[in-house]
Amino acid sequence: MPAGLYLHYPFCPYLCNYCDYFKSLYNKSDEQTLFDSLITETRLVAEEFPDLKIKTIFIGGGTPSLAKIDLLANWLETVREVFDIADDIEFSIECNPDSVSQEYLAALKDLGVTRPNFGIQTFDPDLLRSIGRGHTPHQIQEAIYFANVLEFKSYGVDLLFGLPRQTSAMLKKDLSQLVDLAPPHISFYQLTLEKDTQLFADVNSGKVVMPDDSLVSAMYQIGCDKFVSAEFEHYEIASFAKEGQECRHSLNYWQGDELVGLGPSAHSYINGRRFANVESISKYIASLRQNKMPRILNEPALLDRADETIISSLRLRYGLNRKRFEQLFGLPVDERIDIKEYENLIEAGMLLDDNSRLRLSDEGFFLADEIALRLLK
Ligand code: SF4
Repeated sequence: MPAGLYLHYPFCPYLCNYCDYFKSLYNKSDEQTLFDSLITETRLVAEEFPDLKIKTIFIGGGTPSLAKIDLLANWLETVREVFDIADDIEFSIECNPDSVSQEYLAALKDLGVTRPNFGIQTFDPDLLRSIGRGHTPHQIQEAIYFANVLEFKSYGVDLLFGLPRQTSAMLKKDLSQLVDLAPPHISFYQLTLEKDTQLFADVNSGKVVMPDDSLVSAMYQIGCDKFVSAEFEHYEIASFAKEGQECRHSLNYWQGDELVGLGPSAHSYINGRRFANVESISKYIASLRQNKMPRILNEPALLDRADETIISSLRLRYGLNRKRFEQLFGLPVDERIDIKEYENLIEAGMLLDDNSRLRLSDEGFFLADEIALRLLK
Protein backbone atom coordinates (compact mmCIF):
# COMPACT_ATOMS: atom_id res chain seq x y z
CA MET A 1 0.00 0.00 0.00
CA PRO A 2 1.31 3.48 -0.91
CA ALA A 3 2.57 5.56 1.98
CA GLY A 4 4.65 8.57 2.86
CA LEU A 5 7.49 8.23 5.35
CA TYR A 6 8.03 11.01 7.87
CA LEU A 7 11.00 11.26 10.21
CA HIS A 8 10.89 13.64 13.14
CA TYR A 9 14.46 14.77 13.85
CA PRO A 10 14.16 16.43 17.26
CA PHE A 11 17.34 18.47 17.67
CA CYS A 12 17.72 22.22 17.19
CA PRO A 13 20.72 24.57 17.51
CA TYR A 14 18.57 27.06 19.47
CA LEU A 15 14.96 27.29 20.57
CA CYS A 16 12.74 29.83 18.77
CA ASN A 17 10.34 31.66 21.05
CA TYR A 18 7.16 30.83 19.08
CA CYS A 19 7.74 27.13 18.52
CA ASP A 20 5.77 24.35 20.19
CA TYR A 21 7.10 21.44 18.16
CA PHE A 22 8.75 18.66 20.06
CA LYS A 23 12.47 19.49 20.07
CA SER A 24 15.59 19.58 22.19
CA LEU A 25 18.91 21.36 22.04
CA TYR A 26 21.46 19.52 19.92
CA ASN A 27 23.75 17.07 21.65
CA LYS A 28 26.19 14.93 19.66
CA SER A 29 26.05 11.76 21.76
CA ASP A 30 22.23 11.89 22.02
CA GLU A 31 22.10 12.17 18.24
CA GLN A 32 24.18 9.03 17.77
CA THR A 33 22.00 7.06 20.22
CA LEU A 34 18.82 8.41 18.65
CA PHE A 35 19.85 7.17 15.21
CA ASP A 36 20.65 3.71 16.65
CA SER A 37 17.11 3.61 18.05
CA LEU A 38 15.66 4.94 14.82
CA ILE A 39 17.19 2.08 12.89
CA THR A 40 15.56 -0.38 15.32
CA GLU A 41 12.21 1.40 14.96
CA THR A 42 12.48 1.39 11.16
CA ARG A 43 13.04 -2.38 11.15
CA LEU A 44 10.17 -3.02 13.59
CA VAL A 45 7.72 -0.95 11.53
CA ALA A 46 8.72 -2.69 8.31
CA GLU A 47 8.15 -6.08 9.99
CA GLU A 48 4.76 -4.97 11.32
CA PHE A 49 3.61 -3.57 7.97
CA PRO A 50 5.37 -5.53 5.21
CA ASP A 51 3.13 -4.24 2.39
CA LEU A 52 4.09 -0.57 2.56
CA LYS A 53 5.35 1.06 -0.62
CA ILE A 54 7.13 4.31 0.24
CA LYS A 55 6.39 7.02 -2.33
CA THR A 56 7.74 10.04 -0.49
CA ILE A 57 10.12 10.74 2.40
CA PHE A 58 9.95 13.92 4.45
CA ILE A 59 12.40 14.70 7.25
CA GLY A 60 11.08 17.42 9.51
CA GLY A 61 11.79 18.52 13.04
CA GLY A 62 13.50 20.07 14.81
CA THR A 63 16.31 21.08 12.51
CA PRO A 64 17.14 18.06 10.34
CA SER A 65 19.89 19.98 8.54
CA LEU A 66 21.94 19.55 11.73
CA ALA A 67 21.99 15.78 11.25
CA LYS A 68 25.37 14.19 10.65
CA ILE A 69 25.54 12.93 7.08
CA ASP A 70 26.98 9.52 8.02
CA LEU A 71 24.14 8.94 10.52
CA LEU A 72 21.54 9.87 7.93
CA ALA A 73 23.26 7.65 5.38
CA ASN A 74 23.20 4.63 7.74
CA TRP A 75 19.54 5.11 8.49
CA LEU A 76 18.69 5.49 4.78
CA GLU A 77 20.54 2.29 4.04
CA THR A 78 18.17 0.53 6.46
CA VAL A 79 15.13 2.27 4.96
CA ARG A 80 16.12 1.08 1.50
CA GLU A 81 16.82 -2.42 2.78
CA VAL A 82 13.55 -2.97 4.64
CA PHE A 83 10.98 -0.96 2.65
CA ASP A 84 9.83 -1.12 -0.93
CA ILE A 85 10.73 2.35 -2.25
CA ALA A 86 9.15 3.91 -5.35
CA ASP A 87 11.61 4.65 -8.18
CA ASP A 88 10.43 8.24 -8.54
CA ILE A 89 10.59 9.01 -4.83
CA GLU A 90 10.22 12.60 -3.68
CA PHE A 91 12.60 13.12 -0.75
CA SER A 92 12.29 16.39 1.21
CA ILE A 93 14.25 17.63 4.18
CA GLU A 94 13.71 20.78 6.21
CA CYS A 95 16.79 23.00 6.36
CA ASN A 96 17.61 26.05 8.42
CA PRO A 97 19.57 28.61 6.38
CA ASP A 98 22.21 28.81 9.13
CA SER A 99 22.92 25.09 9.15
CA VAL A 100 23.50 24.36 5.45
CA SER A 101 26.70 24.80 3.51
CA GLN A 102 27.04 24.00 -0.18
CA GLU A 103 28.95 20.83 0.79
CA TYR A 104 26.21 19.74 3.16
CA LEU A 105 23.49 20.24 0.54
CA ALA A 106 25.61 18.38 -2.02
CA ALA A 107 25.95 15.48 0.43
CA LEU A 108 22.16 15.46 0.93
CA LYS A 109 21.71 15.30 -2.82
CA ASP A 110 24.10 12.34 -2.97
CA LEU A 111 21.93 10.61 -0.36
CA GLY A 112 18.92 10.97 -2.68
CA VAL A 113 17.32 14.16 -1.32
CA THR A 114 15.32 15.74 -4.15
CA ARG A 115 13.75 18.65 -2.33
CA PRO A 116 15.34 20.72 0.44
CA ASN A 117 12.86 23.00 2.17
CA PHE A 118 14.26 26.16 3.75
CA GLY A 119 12.62 27.70 6.82
CA ILE A 120 13.47 31.31 6.03
CA GLN A 121 10.45 32.89 7.87
CA THR A 122 11.34 36.54 7.03
CA PHE A 123 14.19 38.54 5.50
CA ASP A 124 13.88 41.26 8.13
CA PRO A 125 16.86 40.96 10.57
CA ASP A 126 14.97 42.60 13.46
CA LEU A 127 11.96 40.32 13.01
CA LEU A 128 14.23 37.28 12.77
CA ARG A 129 15.82 38.25 16.07
CA SER A 130 12.44 38.99 17.66
CA ILE A 131 11.27 35.40 17.09
CA GLY A 132 14.58 33.88 18.13
CA ARG A 133 15.78 32.65 14.74
CA GLY A 134 19.52 32.28 14.43
CA HIS A 135 19.96 32.98 10.71
CA THR A 136 20.63 36.19 8.83
CA PRO A 137 19.09 37.47 5.57
CA HIS A 138 22.46 36.85 3.91
CA GLN A 139 22.33 33.16 4.92
CA ILE A 140 18.91 32.89 3.27
CA GLN A 141 20.29 34.23 0.00
CA GLU A 142 23.24 31.86 0.27
CA ALA A 143 21.12 28.78 0.96
CA ILE A 144 18.92 29.44 -2.09
CA TYR A 145 22.02 30.15 -4.16
CA PHE A 146 23.48 26.78 -3.14
CA ALA A 147 20.24 24.99 -4.04
CA ASN A 148 20.37 26.59 -7.51
CA VAL A 149 24.08 25.91 -8.04
CA LEU A 150 23.53 22.27 -7.10
CA GLU A 151 20.63 22.15 -9.58
CA PHE A 152 17.96 20.88 -7.25
CA LYS A 153 15.02 20.74 -9.62
CA SER A 154 12.74 21.26 -6.69
CA TYR A 155 13.01 23.08 -3.39
CA GLY A 156 10.72 25.02 -1.12
CA VAL A 157 10.80 27.92 1.29
CA ASP A 158 8.60 28.72 4.28
CA LEU A 159 7.66 32.34 4.92
CA LEU A 160 5.78 33.53 8.01
CA PHE A 161 3.38 36.45 8.31
CA GLY A 162 1.69 38.02 11.32
CA LEU A 163 4.97 38.37 13.22
CA PRO A 164 5.20 40.61 16.30
CA ARG A 165 5.34 44.27 15.23
CA GLN A 166 5.20 43.32 11.55
CA THR A 167 3.43 45.80 9.28
CA SER A 168 2.02 45.33 5.76
CA ALA A 169 4.93 47.35 4.39
CA MET A 170 7.42 44.99 6.06
CA LEU A 171 5.62 41.99 4.66
CA LYS A 172 5.58 43.49 1.17
CA LYS A 173 9.37 43.84 1.33
CA ASP A 174 9.64 40.15 2.29
CA LEU A 175 7.34 39.13 -0.54
CA SER A 176 9.32 41.09 -3.15
CA GLN A 177 12.61 39.61 -2.03
CA LEU A 178 11.16 36.13 -2.03
CA VAL A 179 9.56 36.41 -5.45
CA ASP A 180 12.87 37.77 -6.84
CA LEU A 181 14.57 34.58 -5.67
CA ALA A 182 11.95 32.59 -7.63
CA PRO A 183 11.83 29.39 -5.53
CA PRO A 184 9.78 26.56 -7.06
CA HIS A 185 7.57 26.22 -3.95
CA ILE A 186 6.45 28.56 -1.18
CA SER A 187 4.61 27.77 2.06
CA PHE A 188 3.08 30.91 3.51
CA TYR A 189 2.10 30.41 7.15
CA GLN A 190 0.56 32.66 9.74
CA LEU A 191 2.57 32.71 12.96
CA THR A 192 0.14 31.34 15.51
CA LEU A 193 0.51 31.92 19.21
CA GLU A 194 0.89 28.56 20.93
CA LYS A 195 0.47 28.05 24.65
CA ASP A 196 3.62 27.08 26.57
CA THR A 197 5.86 29.21 24.38
CA GLN A 198 7.93 32.21 25.42
CA LEU A 199 6.14 34.35 22.84
CA PHE A 200 2.76 33.47 24.36
CA ALA A 201 4.02 34.56 27.78
CA ASP A 202 5.50 37.78 26.36
CA VAL A 203 2.24 38.66 24.61
CA ASN A 204 0.24 37.93 27.76
CA SER A 205 2.47 40.13 29.88
CA GLY A 206 2.17 42.96 27.34
CA LYS A 207 5.87 42.86 26.48
CA VAL A 208 5.16 41.97 22.86
CA VAL A 209 2.27 43.11 20.68
CA MET A 210 0.97 40.96 17.85
CA PRO A 211 -0.70 42.43 14.74
CA ASP A 212 -4.50 42.41 15.08
CA ASP A 213 -6.75 39.96 13.23
CA SER A 214 -7.79 42.34 10.46
CA LEU A 215 -4.16 43.20 9.69
CA VAL A 216 -3.25 39.51 9.66
CA SER A 217 -6.10 38.72 7.21
CA ALA A 218 -4.98 41.61 5.01
CA MET A 219 -1.40 40.27 5.10
CA TYR A 220 -2.58 36.85 3.96
CA GLN A 221 -4.44 38.39 1.04
CA ILE A 222 -1.44 40.57 0.09
CA GLY A 223 0.76 37.45 0.04
CA CYS A 224 -1.70 35.41 -2.04
CA ASP A 225 -2.06 38.23 -4.60
CA LYS A 226 1.70 38.66 -4.85
CA PHE A 227 2.40 34.97 -5.42
CA VAL A 228 -0.43 34.49 -7.88
CA SER A 229 0.68 37.53 -9.89
CA ALA A 230 4.18 36.00 -9.95
CA GLU A 231 2.58 32.93 -11.57
CA PHE A 232 2.61 30.58 -8.64
CA GLU A 233 -0.36 28.27 -8.47
CA HIS A 234 -2.23 28.66 -5.20
CA TYR A 235 -2.88 24.93 -4.85
CA GLU A 236 -3.56 24.79 -1.12
CA ILE A 237 -4.57 27.45 1.39
CA ALA A 238 -0.97 28.02 2.53
CA SER A 239 0.93 26.55 -0.44
CA PHE A 240 2.04 28.01 -3.77
CA ALA A 241 3.94 26.22 -6.50
CA LYS A 242 5.32 26.70 -9.96
CA GLU A 243 3.91 24.20 -12.43
CA GLY A 244 4.55 20.61 -11.33
CA GLN A 245 6.31 21.71 -8.12
CA GLU A 246 3.61 20.87 -5.59
CA CYS A 247 4.88 18.98 -2.54
CA ARG A 248 3.75 15.42 -3.27
CA HIS A 249 4.34 14.26 0.29
CA SER A 250 1.89 16.81 1.69
CA LEU A 251 -0.57 16.40 -1.17
CA ASN A 252 -0.80 12.64 -0.69
CA TYR A 253 -1.27 13.03 3.04
CA TRP A 254 -3.93 15.72 2.66
CA GLN A 255 -5.76 13.38 0.29
CA GLY A 256 -5.88 10.59 2.85
CA ASP A 257 -2.85 8.41 2.10
CA GLU A 258 -1.09 6.38 4.75
CA LEU A 259 1.76 7.92 6.69
CA VAL A 260 4.54 6.14 8.54
CA GLY A 261 5.96 8.42 11.23
CA LEU A 262 9.32 7.60 12.82
CA GLY A 263 11.21 9.31 15.63
CA PRO A 264 10.09 10.77 18.96
CA SER A 265 6.61 12.42 18.84
CA ALA A 266 5.95 11.22 15.27
CA HIS A 267 2.38 10.23 14.34
CA SER A 268 1.38 7.54 11.86
CA TYR A 269 -1.78 6.47 10.12
CA ILE A 270 -1.59 2.93 8.75
CA ASN A 271 -4.26 0.34 7.96
CA GLY A 272 -7.05 2.38 9.55
CA ARG A 273 -5.18 2.90 12.82
CA ARG A 274 -3.48 5.91 14.30
CA PHE A 275 -0.21 5.66 16.22
CA ALA A 276 1.80 8.25 18.12
CA ASN A 277 5.31 7.98 19.51
CA VAL A 278 6.32 9.21 22.92
CA GLU A 279 7.40 12.87 23.17
CA SER A 280 10.65 12.18 24.96
CA ILE A 281 14.03 11.35 23.49
CA SER A 282 15.13 9.32 26.52
CA LYS A 283 11.88 7.29 26.68
CA TYR A 284 12.00 6.74 22.91
CA ILE A 285 15.53 5.37 23.19
CA ALA A 286 14.79 3.28 26.30
CA SER A 287 11.81 1.62 24.66
CA LEU A 288 13.66 0.73 21.48
CA ARG A 289 16.62 -0.62 23.46
CA GLN A 290 14.18 -3.31 24.58
CA ASN A 291 12.95 -3.76 21.00
CA LYS A 292 9.58 -2.27 21.94
CA MET A 293 7.72 0.29 19.83
CA PRO A 294 7.84 3.69 21.62
CA ARG A 295 4.11 4.26 21.17
CA ILE A 296 1.78 6.15 23.45
CA LEU A 297 -1.21 5.78 21.12
CA ASN A 298 -2.49 2.93 19.00
CA GLU A 299 -6.19 3.19 18.18
CA PRO A 300 -8.67 2.67 15.35
CA ALA A 301 -9.10 5.92 13.44
CA LEU A 302 -10.68 5.17 10.07
CA LEU A 303 -13.61 7.58 10.41
CA ASP A 304 -11.52 10.31 12.06
CA ARG A 305 -9.04 10.09 9.25
CA ALA A 306 -11.89 10.16 6.69
CA ASP A 307 -13.15 13.41 8.25
CA GLU A 308 -9.66 14.89 8.38
CA THR A 309 -9.29 14.06 4.69
CA ILE A 310 -12.50 15.94 3.88
CA ILE A 311 -11.17 18.98 5.77
CA SER A 312 -7.68 18.92 4.27
CA SER A 313 -8.93 18.18 0.73
CA LEU A 314 -11.24 21.18 0.82
CA ARG A 315 -8.15 23.30 1.52
CA LEU A 316 -6.90 22.16 -1.90
CA ARG A 317 -7.87 23.93 -5.13
CA TYR A 318 -8.36 20.48 -6.62
CA GLY A 319 -10.80 19.57 -3.87
CA LEU A 320 -11.92 16.14 -2.71
CA ASN A 321 -11.86 13.26 -5.15
CA ARG A 322 -14.94 11.16 -4.38
CA LYS A 323 -13.62 7.92 -5.91
CA ARG A 324 -10.24 8.11 -4.18
CA PHE A 325 -11.99 8.80 -0.87
CA GLU A 326 -14.24 5.78 -1.30
CA GLN A 327 -11.30 3.55 -2.20
CA LEU A 328 -9.37 4.66 0.87
CA PHE A 329 -12.13 4.60 3.45
CA GLY A 330 -14.62 2.11 2.01
CA LEU A 331 -17.55 4.52 2.21
CA PRO A 332 -18.92 7.36 0.07
CA VAL A 333 -18.21 10.99 1.00
CA ASP A 334 -21.94 11.59 1.40
CA GLU A 335 -22.01 9.33 4.45
CA ARG A 336 -19.73 11.73 6.33
CA ILE A 337 -21.32 15.04 5.37
CA ASP A 338 -24.45 16.86 6.40
CA ILE A 339 -26.60 16.86 3.26
CA LYS A 340 -28.61 19.91 4.34
CA GLU A 341 -25.42 21.98 4.81
CA TYR A 342 -24.10 20.59 1.52
CA GLU A 343 -27.21 21.85 -0.31
CA ASN A 344 -27.00 25.27 1.39
CA LEU A 345 -23.33 25.65 0.45
CA ILE A 346 -23.96 24.61 -3.16
CA GLU A 347 -26.84 27.08 -3.38
CA ALA A 348 -24.69 29.85 -1.88
CA GLY A 349 -22.07 29.21 -4.58
CA MET A 350 -19.38 28.29 -2.04
CA LEU A 351 -19.21 24.60 -2.87
CA LEU A 352 -18.96 23.04 -6.35
CA ASP A 353 -19.71 19.41 -7.15
CA ASP A 354 -19.31 17.75 -10.57
CA ASN A 355 -19.99 14.29 -9.05
CA SER A 356 -16.34 13.31 -9.24
CA ARG A 357 -14.84 16.15 -7.19
CA LEU A 358 -16.16 18.29 -4.39
CA ARG A 359 -14.32 21.60 -4.24
CA LEU A 360 -14.68 25.16 -3.08
CA SER A 361 -15.39 28.10 -5.36
CA ASP A 362 -12.99 31.10 -5.35
CA GLU A 363 -15.23 32.70 -2.77
CA GLY A 364 -15.41 29.59 -0.60
CA PHE A 365 -11.69 28.78 -0.85
CA PHE A 366 -10.65 31.43 1.66
CA LEU A 367 -13.19 30.08 4.15
CA ALA A 368 -12.18 26.45 3.70
CA ASP A 369 -11.83 25.46 7.37
CA GLU A 370 -15.09 27.09 8.37
CA ILE A 371 -16.96 25.46 5.47
CA ALA A 372 -15.46 22.03 6.12
CA LEU A 373 -16.59 22.16 9.75
CA ARG A 374 -20.11 23.11 8.69
CA LEU A 375 -20.13 20.32 6.15
CA LEU A 376 -19.07 17.48 8.38
CA LYS A 377 -21.81 15.57 10.20
S1 SF4 B 1 11.08 26.75 14.80
FE1 SF4 B 1 12.38 25.11 14.01
S2 SF4 B 1 14.47 25.73 14.60
FE2 SF4 B 1 13.07 26.95 15.85
S3 SF4 B 1 12.85 25.77 17.75
FE3 SF4 B 1 11.16 25.16 16.41
S4 SF4 B 1 11.87 23.35 15.35
FE4 SF4 B 1 13.69 24.38 16.22
